[in-house]
Amino acid sequence: MPQPSWKVNEIFYSIQGEGKHTGMPAVFVRLAGCSMNCPFCDTQYAAREGKETDSAHLLQTLAQWPAKTVIITGGEPAEQDLTGLIAVLKKAGYAVHLETNGSIDTDVSRADFVCVSPKKYVSPEMLKKADVIKIVVGQNTDLDDLQKYYAYENTHTQIYLQPESNKQENIDLCVKLLKNHPSARLSLQTHKLANIR
Ligand code: SF4
Repeated sequence: MPQPSWKVNEIFYSIQGEGKHTGMPAVFVRLAGCSMNCPFCDTQYAAREGKETDSAHLLQTLAQWPAKTVIITGGEPAEQDLTGLIAVLKKAGYAVHLETNGSIDTDVSRADFVCVSPKKYVSPEMLKKADVIKIVVGQNTDLDDLQKYYAYENTHTQIYLQPESNKQENIDLCVKLLKNHPSARLSLQTHKLANIR
C-alpha cells in the first residue's frame, strides 16, 4: 500500500521566532504551494518549489533531531492533506503546531497548537479553531478588519499583532493599536532580528 506523501519545500531544525512560542526549539516542516500570492510574502519560494516526500522519509528526517515539536508551515499547509499529516506526526509522538492562513476549513482538531494568520480571505470556522490569530500589520492594513478579528478573541484565542517585515513604521503602528486594545500581544519576527535560520 503506498504511503501518504506531501509536497515539501524544506525541513529544518531551528527556533520558533515569533508569536506565543517564541524561543522554542522545533523542527519546521514547510509544505510547498500557496495560492494566496500576498505581496509581502517572505516565503514565495515555497509556493513554487517542493519535493514529494512520503511519511517514512519525513519521519526519518525528523528523527535526526532531539526536538519533539514539529511546526507545520508553508506555503499554505491546508492546500494539501493537512489532517493526514497531523495524524502521522501525532502517531509518531510529536507535538504538532500549525501555521496556516485559515483560508480552507480543515480538521485540525488533533493539532496541539493552531496559529491562523488571516490574509485576503479567512474561513470563520478556522478563526474559531485558532489558539492564536496572528495579524500581520502594515501601512495598508484595513483597521476595520482588525475589529472583525478582535471579535474572535476569548479565553481560548489570543490575538497577536505582527509588524510587517519588522519595519519600524509598522512596529510603531502595532504599538499604537495594542495600547488601544491591551488584551492583544505584540509578535516580532525575532529570528530575523537575531539572524537565526
Ligand atoms: S498566505 Fe502566507 S505563504 Fe501564502 S502568499 Fe500569503 S504570506 Fe505567503
